[in-house]
Amino acid sequence: MELTDVSDDLTEILISEEQIRSRIAELARAIEADYAGTDVLLVGVLKGAVMVMADLARELKIPVTMDWMAVSSYGSGTQSSGVVRILKDLDTDLSGRTVLIVEDIIDSGLTLSWLLSNLNSRGPASVEICTLLRKPEAARVDIDVKYVGFEIPNRFVVGYGLDYDEKYRNLRGVGILSPGVYT
Ligand code: 5GP
Repeated sequence: MELTDVSDDLTEILISEEQIRSRIAELARAIEADYAGTDVLLVGVLKGAVMVMADLARELKIPVTMDWMAVSSYGSGTQSSGVVRILKDLDTDLSGRTVLIVEDIIDSGLTLSWLLSNLNSRGPASVEICTLLRKPEAARVDIDVKYVGFEIPNRFVVGYGLDYDEKYRNLRGVGILSPGVYT
């Protein structure tokens, strides 16, 4: 679905399909250079990271394996609290593995910081992070994010995997959701 197909629901088109494609290609070149000759495991967090994982993995010119986790983050309303429960765990044993977490968005960073310590406790060789989007709030938590696609303003965005009430995930780009949709 194109951003223009739901233009009434968006206040702004933030990132086009083409911008995402070219930025993912740049990230892929950096990842290939950093991980050449390494057996990398990409870990995607369901469901938001599905699109970025699919596009990044196919863009990479090095062999990778992929696995998925589903987590639920408790909090009031749209704020995450950092209290996380695993709904679906990885199928892969992480001991000695080189792990790259693939994320759609980092907002408060609380979910990611929980995920990092959880994965690090399983004895991997390394755990790094690649996120398509990062909001300014994330700067407050002390997480070293190795690859960032786009720094975005502190607004609620949808598309390219990101939902509101399970909708808009199949948009080809990213847009700012109109407050009229959720009020
Ligand atoms: P954090 O723990 O970093 O605050 O929360 C990250 C999670 O909150 C993301 O994985 C995503 O599910 C959700 N989230 C944060 N900001 C947005 C946003 O602007 N749009 C959407 N659709 N989800 C968001």
